[in-house]
Amino acid sequence: MVTALADDIWWYDLTGVNATLVDDDGALTLVDTGLPWHGNALIAGLSDAGYELRDLDRILLTHFDFDHVGGLSAFDGIDVTIYVGERDAPLVTGEQAPPLGNHKGAFQRLVSPFLDAPDNDVVPLADGDTVGSFTVYDTPGHTPGHVCYVSEDHSLGLLGDLVREDSGRSEPSPWLVSYDTDAVARSIRDFAERAPRFELAVPGHGVPFEEGGSAKLSKLAATL
Ligand SMILES: [Zn+2]
Repeated sequence: MVTALADDIWWYDLTGVNATLVDDDGALTLVDTGLPWHGNALIAGLSDAGYELRDLDRILLTHFDFDHVGGLSAFDGIDVTIYVGERDAPLVTGEQAPPLGNHKGAFQRLVSPFLDAPDNDVVPLADGDTVGSFTVYDTPGHTPGHVCYVSEDHSLGLLGDLVREDSGRSEPSPWLVSYDTDAVARSIRDFAERAPRFELAVPGHGVPFEEGGSAKLSKLAATL
């Protein structure tokens, strides 16, 4: 099931992790793909929103993690392009393995046998790149290649695991699941400073903020 957040934006609540569907001026865009067993829910959500699988044009990933790239294999053989921050891209394609020397990398290495490299083209993104109406913001820390996406057209910020929502508040990605929490704090401050205003904000975990998304991030940034 998906929940409409706006005329052209739908939220997937995939039991514990979020994905987002955006009709970006005709280019149907899925943001993040949940866990490996979420493929069917992702495809069902497309039809809940009034689309078919073949309507899907692109997948934007906020980062390489088991619970955000897991559903990618559901789109093998479908003509979609996958976009991901350049430092996480070689992990998505399987060209690189996560580093064992970092606690988070070691965990990623442990679960990587459950992930298949996707068939589709994977396009690496750099800070400031645009995909449709979305601008890419490098926000390393949770993972080295973590990015957020902002669409001014939709007044939408896709925050991935830079922050998570808890009881109506946004919180930085915690140590246990982050490569580097100092980098997370720097990224929140940097993103809050550079990103344009947006109302709707969808974090990777928790309930989306339907109003004042960028203002909430600025408030959090001021405490870090
Ligand atoms: Zn996550």
